[in-house]
Amino acid sequence: MHVPALPTITSSDPDLADLIQREASRQHDTLRMIASENYVSQAVLEATGTVLTNKYSEGYPGKRYYEGQRFIDPIEELAIARAKSVFGVEHANVQPYSGSPANLAVYMALAAPGDTVMGMALPMGGHLTHGWPVSATGAWFRPVQYTVRRSDGLIDFDEVRDIALRERPKLIFCGGTALPRTIEFARFAEIAREVDAVLVADIAHIAGLIAGGAHPTPVGHAPIITTTTHKTLRGPRGAMLLCTSDYSKAIDKAVFPGLQGGPHNHTTAGIAVALREAAQPSFSVYAHQIVANARALASSLLERGFDLVSGGTDNHLILLDLTGKNIGGKPAARALDRAGIETNYNTVPYDTRKPFDPSGVRIGTPALTTRGLTEAQMPQVADWISRAVDAAVKDDDQALDTIAAEVRELLSAYPMPGWH
Ligand SMILES: *Cc1c(COP(=O)(O)O)cnc(C)c1O
Repeated sequence: MHVPALPTITSSDPDLADLIQREASRQHDTLRMIASENYVSQAVLEATGTVLTNKYSEGYPGKRYYEGQRFIDPIEELAIARAKSVFGVEHANVQPYSGSPANLAVYMALAAPGDTVMGMALPMGGHLTHGWPVSATGAWFRPVQYTVRRSDGLIDFDEVRDIALRERPKLIFCGGTALPRTIEFARFAEIAREVDAVLVADIAHIAGLIAGGAHPTPVGHAPIITTTTHKTLRGPRGAMLLCTSDYSKAIDKAVFPGLQGGPHNHTTAGIAVALREAAQPSFSVYAHQIVANARALASSLLERGFDLVSGGTDNHLILLDLTGKNIGGKPAARALDRAGIETNYNTVPYDTRKPFDPSGVRIGTPALTTRGLTEAQMPQVADWISRAVDAAVKDDDQALDTIAAEVRELLSAYPMPGWH
């Protein structure tokens, strides 16, 4: 049963209630290994399900365009204070609706249409909003993109510097969606300084690792930091912009009135709850366990003959290159899902296959770490992944169903927040 319970929806709208219950049950029975996903706490679920959703609050605490903010203002102020304290920054904006609009707000604050902006190419592990052509950020600005080295899958800082010196971008984005290695913020900062660009660190994937001290912080290197709140940080779907005081006015103006109307106050409350959780010593243990699990899983996968982009991982994420396994990423991900292991197909750097059926599968350990799995279970997880990929090659659905039952059996011992 979903927790909090859904008695009213169950009686008034049983079809919808049934779908929600089934999704909760699916989340309970599945090894959720999509690197950008997690399970929020019951406290976050409660916060996001409150009457705060009823309230319009355009503006910022103390400067609103609607009346009735005497409880909303302190809620947003609490979220801001906690964000500043958890990440050690001078200014925080907790209103962006999600990661993509948060990034767009940075462009709006610091660049004009047509300006040159620099980011990592999407197929190399960057994000759409770092200037990929199909994104508004690629269509409205002039993107130049850096890659990773073919030989080792790592960022080539000589290339980053060469492009920056040649193209003189206004903004340089670092961070991404499929980067299994530590982001070297200091090296990006040095290049940004040299070409007088503003360095923007997009820590969407790793915010929880940074909050827990399991990944170095960009603070002191990147004056502007963007992040989602729902990945390793384990909060509700949303985003934050963190910056030095120099940029606070421009950033706030870009979010509202530049791009958005009223903030989602129920989400703001959920972010405040998640940030309080992230400030506890237990969260640091959690963040380090995510990385320990990923490392253990990577070494178990290597033992089973998997090829990992960059040879392993420093963080929560592993990118499998299935070229040597004679199967594409898409059929592999589909088979893994049938086996109770939820992943996504992903391009690998210099992929020879098409973006809709690339060579890779991306996996991550944040959600299974939330469930309580440790290094002790990672050889078993690697074994399931290996058996599922072999079964997919042989089209053996029965083997996949057997794995799914084994996964369900293991997970029955690990509670899921939001399910009882
Ligand atoms: C997830 C992600 C985003 C976008 O977040 P949405 O909330 O999906 O819009 C932006 N940048 C990076 C690096 C991400 O991983």
